[in-house]
Amino acid sequence: MEIMDSSRVIGKYTTGINGPLLFITAGVHGNEPSGVEALKKVFKALEEVKPKINGCIVGVIGNKNALKKNKRYIDEDLNRTWTEANINGQNSSTSEQKEMHQLIEVLENFPEADFTKRYFMDCHTTSSESLPYVSVQLVNDNNNWAHNFPTYIVQGFSDIVYGAIDHYLSRIGLTGFTFEAGQHESKTSVENHEGMVWLALKEACNLDLSKIPNYPECVEKFSEKNAPDQKTFKIIYRHGLENNDDFKMKSGFKNFQKIYKEDLLAVQNGKEIKSDWNARIFMPLYQSQGNDGFFVIEEVK
Ligand SMILES: [Zn+2]
Repeated sequence: MEIMDSSRVIGKYTTGINGPLLFITAGVHGNEPSGVEALKKVFKALEEVKPKINGCIVGVIGNKNALKKNKRYIDEDLNRTWTEANINGQNSSTSEQKEMHQLIEVLENFPEADFTKRYFMDCHTTSSESLPYVSVQLVNDNNNWAHNFPTYIVQGFSDIVYGAIDHYLSRIGLTGFTFEAGQHESKTSVENHEGMVWLALKEACNLDLSKIPNYPECVEKFSEKNAPDQKTFKIIYRHGLENNDDFKMKSGFKNFQKIYKEDLLAVQNGKEIKSDWNARIFMPLYQSQGNDGFFVIEEVK
């Protein structure tokens, strides 16, 4: 195996037993360091305790340049660049396209043939306060896999918003999802990311969690203190924005908050946007960058 860029690879751990790959990315958005911090904690504990696992876990930084500058991105959103055109065309005109090709190179060190299965998790956080949730694309066995984790599950985001890294990883045959751990700077987000990584190690690589000294704390904080009971939602509407739109979300919405017909949701170019739904609001836009004003989701029973 070639020597991998150590400034991109946070850690790699195996005990040489045949099994799956768990490929975990963090900091795909440079203003979201939580997953990177959590992975550092996990690899530190793994190196100290050296527990037996099946297969291999690798933790990788997504947008290195942007993370260094604590910016969401340099030229464009790295979670929108993963299109066939960019990948097959070897496009590397933006900082993010270069990062993308470097990430693909890292993953090429862990080919499908070397593992019984390949899993991924892409770690994110949100601009506003949010309960943690899994965002899963309904391909492969992603949805079944996601239901191993005690949290909210939102289906269909990557089917609407094209070019996300989880879309790419699913497309090349990996099983996994995106995990949104909470607000960008919240300490709870790091706890949630860490808890999810440990749980993924248990589920995918058969790690005996009782071997980890700060278990059950690390996992219970996530699954019992910070996360809601498992519920599954699907996206039923996306409110897209044009670049020049003057868009202001009504203040105070929390992610997953219930909304009702005729509720005022936002003001766009001077016009009120009211709810057509009795459902829940998802990802209300409270930051300056972005083309998604908000989404509407409803529970899947
Ligand atoms: Zn993100």
